[in-house]
Amino acid sequence: MCLTCQIINEGIIPPGGIVYKDELIILHHCLDINIAGYFILSPIRHVESIEQLNQNELFQLAQISKRITEFLICESDIDRVYILSLGEETSHFHFHLFPRYNWMLKFPDENIRINRKIDGAKLFSFIRNRYKTDKQEQHESKILAMTTHIREKIMTSSE
Ligand SMILES: [Zn+2]
Repeated sequence: MCLTCQIINEGIIPPGGIVYKDELIILHHCLDINIAGYFILSPIRHVESIEQLNQNELFQLAQISKRITEFLICESDIDRVYILSLGEETSHFHFHLFPRYNWMLKFPDENIRINRKIDGAKLFSFIRNRYKTDKQEQHESKILAMTTHIREKIMTSSE
C-alpha cells in the first residue's frame, strides 16, 4: 500500500492529523518538511495521473486548493501559495500546496533566484532540502497550530 493510501487508512498519522477528508479527497500536512502550512492534497482513490481523475474529484481538488490558498495568504508573512504536482517520490497523485513565506526570500540569491527573478521551482527545492526533518521532529508546534487553524477554517467557512 502506498504512503498516501496508508494515511487514508490511518496506518500513518501525518503531523497534526488529517486536516480534511471526504469521500473524494484528503488534505494533510507534509510529513517530513518543517514548514507550517505546507499541505498535501490527494484524491482518496489511488490514481497515479491527473488524467485518471473524474469530474467530481477534479472539482473537489480545485475547490479545496482555492480555499486553502485563501486561508494561507491570510496568514502574516505568506503572500503566495505554490501548487505543484511532481509525483517523483509518491506515485499516488497529489498536489503540493506550498506557502511561500516572505522570510524565504531572504536566503542568498544563488539559492532562490535566476537573473534576479525568484525561481519558484528552485526556491521550493531549496526550502524542502533545508527544512527536511526526520519523524521525531515532525510534531513541531507551529505545524500543530497551523493544522488546527486550517481545520477550523474549513469547518467554519462556507464554500
Ligand atoms: Zn495510494
